Formats: sequence, structure tokens, C-alpha cells
Amino acid sequence: MSFEKLGLSAEILRAVADQGYTSPTPVQAQSIPNILEGHDVLAGAQTGTGKTAGFTLPMLNIMQKKHPERGHKKNIRALVLTPTRELAAQVAESVVTYGKYTSIRSTVVFGGVGINPQIQKLRRGIDILVATPGRLLDLANQGEVDLSQIEFFVLDEADRMLDMGFIHDIRRVLKLLPQKRQNLLFSATFSEEIKKLAQGFLKSPTYVEVARNETSHQVTQVVHPVSKAKKRALLSKLISEGEWQQVLVFTKTKHGANRLTKQLESDGIGAAAIHGNKSQTARTKALAGFKAGNIRVLVATDIAARGLDIDQLPHVVNYELPNVSEDYVHRIGRTGRAGNTGEAISLVSADEDKLLHGIERLIKKAIRKVAIAGFEPDPEDIKVAQKEAQAQKQRRSSHQRRRRPNTGNANSANRKPKQNRSRASGNRSRNG
Ligand code: AMP
Repeated sequence: MSFEKLGLSAEILRAVADQGYTSPTPVQAQSIPNILEGHDVLAGAQTGTGKTAGFTLPMLNIMQKKHPERGHKKNIRALVLTPTRELAAQVAESVVTYGKYTSIRSTVVFGGVGINPQIQKLRRGIDILVATPGRLLDLANQGEVDLSQIEFFVLDEADRMLDMGFIHDIRRVLKLLPQKRQNLLFSATFSEEIKKLAQGFLKSPTYVEVARNETSHQVTQVVHPVSKAKKRALLSKLISEGEWQQVLVFTKTKHGANRLTKQLESDGIGAAAIHGNKSQTARTKALAGFKAGNIRVLVATDIAARGLDIDQLPHVVNYELPNVSEDYVHRIGRTGRAGNTGEAISLVSADEDKLLHGIERLIKKAIRKVAIAGFEPDPEDIKVAQKEAQAQKQRRSSHQRRRRPNTGNANSANRKPKQNRSRASGNRSRNG
């Protein structure tokens, strides 16, 4: 399959050729013709699949064809909503890259930086606005953004949006849009909540699905069982002896990311942390340093890393496994992107065995385990983890016994309402 067959204009094809792309990725091959035909699209695709070009190329194509010369008109014609500032900046960059031979103007707005320069750009008139929800609503409330003429509405990484609590903001934005428009929704996963949201605003969408929740075949996965106390030494050894040029390392907490960054620095390995407590300037600086190759290790939490577009990252390390199995899939999607191969390495201590099993259940395969001499799990750690697992089991069964007192009556009024039970078991820890 070639890009020429998809029905894109010469201006767009030229920009694609400049990027050196030779053939469309599966998500592009499926979504581009459908979007060009004017359909709403619901796409299951995670970062790394080429989804940004999947919606940007046809959108630019249609917009350019409809009004090749817009003169003084200032109405915004397309809105792309993203969950994070970093993703917004990256999508906006892609819009400029792919639209460089068109007359389409675009800008990006997000919080954490001054609002006035954004207002100035908006006042000059733009066609495509890329935005995070909070800042967009601020600007709309101030009368600086008019969404009443929107022709395209794109919700990127919709699952992340909901995870981050943006559902109400999304609904507020939807109220500002005109009835007649083309909608595109991209999401890596499809919970009931996403389906409900999608049903609410997509009109007879075409479904595009690319390997949902399956880890990329381009990515080699390995687990190194390791003593908790030796994780950091093992990471430094892997980086130095493997002569890794660059690696993205995931930790569970912001504090953990800071601590690991300092420790790597003291091992003589250039590192920077990126997480929710860092200022926007610090995050942008860390990302730019990493992209420029000046920083060897970028240590990130899940939320901060969301949507980061870093080309051809050969290694991703899970310094700690995520609490939510789906995040593992997102994390390792950072390597082996768009045709490149990559390696995802997880350093797993005995207390993380349960998380590892959860991940293996989700991806439907066992990950290869390779112990490294001198770093094997501490027998003491294993005993403690087994004891803790046993204690958890006991706590669960005694909890269940308490919920079902010995009355023999299954409908006993003492039973906890269903809602409470599911809330207790669905507890997710988020630390970005
Ligand atoms: P995305 O999933 O949109 O974040 O894109 C992931 C990466 O793939 C980006 O670095 C893009 O520049 C790159 N990419 C997108 N489309 C293609 C393509 N057709 N061929 C090669 N690389 C691509």
C-alpha cells in the first residue's frame, strides 16, 4: 500500500514524502480514506501507531480543498483536544509539518504558560486549534475562542482524558460545537465509559481497530527478576554495559522519579525527570534535552509520559511495574514505533509478582524471565512477598466472611451494597 492510493492531495503527499514515510501504517491506511469520505471515525489505536498523521493528513486535505484561499476569515474550523500539554504541543507540531504546503494556519493552547501570547495568536485568525481542555474553556469563557464554526472535532487519547478526569470539561466543550461537524475519536482502550461518550457524539462512526491491548510484535519484552535493593545498580549496569544511547525509564511515583534521577546522575549517567510536579518549562527543557540527545535517561511517571513522541526509542525500562496493567502496554508502546524494533525491560522485585501476573494476563502471554548473576531476588524478599500475599488472601477471605454473616440468608440486610464492593476492588492508584 502506498500513500498515493489513499486519495490525498499533492500538497499533503509532498509533506509526507519530506518526512521520509514510504507507506502508511495500518491505522493510517484504514482511517485516512474513511475520513476523506466524510465519515465519523472511532479508532482504537495507541501512541506509536502513527495515529496523529492518521487524522491530521485527511483533515488538512479536506480543509485545504474546501477553502483554498481564506483571506480575512477568522473562524476556527477544526479543534483537536488532547489530555496533556506535551501531546498538544506534539500534535500541533505535526499539523505544521504535514500542512507546510497548504495555507492552513494553526496554533496550540494549553495551561501552565502565559495566556496572552495565545490570545494574540488566536486573534490573528487560525484554522486548526490544538488544545488541552482547561485552557480551552478558559479562553472560550473569555470570549477569545469561538467554536461555533467547527467542521472537525478530534478527541485524541480519549481514554487518557477520562483517566485524568476531563469528562466534564469534554461535555462542556461539546456544548460549544455546532451540530453539523465531522468527529474523530482515538483511544487506546475502550471502557464502558468511553463507549458511552462515543455514542453520545459520534454519528454512525466507522470503526478502525489496530491491535488493541496487544503489545507490538516489534517490541522484545524481557523481565529481569531482581532484588529490590539492587534495582538501581542493575539499571546503571544495563545502561553502561549495554552501551544504550538513550532510554526512557518509568517509575511509579514522582518522588521515585526524582530519587532515581539523582542516583543515576551520581553514577555518571545523564538523567532528567519528567512528572506532574515539574513546571511546564522544566518538562519542556527535559524533553528537548532528551530529544536532542543531551540527556541519556529520561525518568518519567505514567501521566507525564503520556503521548510523548520520541522518535525511534530503542529501550524502555519499567523500573517499577505500573499498578494498572494497561499502563504497561502504553509504556512499552514507546519503543518499536512505526517499523523500528525496540526492547522493553522490566526490573521486577518479589513484591511485584502479582502486578506482573496481571500484566501477563492482559497481554495474553508470559514474558521471558532472565535473571542476572549477582542481582537475583533476595530470598528474604521472596519470603516477605509470599507472607504478604498470604496475609492479603486471608484479609480478603475474612472480609468476605464479615460481609456474609452466618445467617444462612443470602439476602441478608447486612450485605454491603454492590456499589461499595466494586469501588473497593476497583481502586486505582494514580501518581503522575
Ligand atoms: P504517533 O502514533 O502519531 O505518535 O506516531 C508515532 C511515530 O511514527 C511518529 O514519530 C511519526 O513521525 C511516525 N510515523 C507516522 N506515520 C508514519 C509512517 N507512515 N511511516 C513511518 N513513520 C511514521
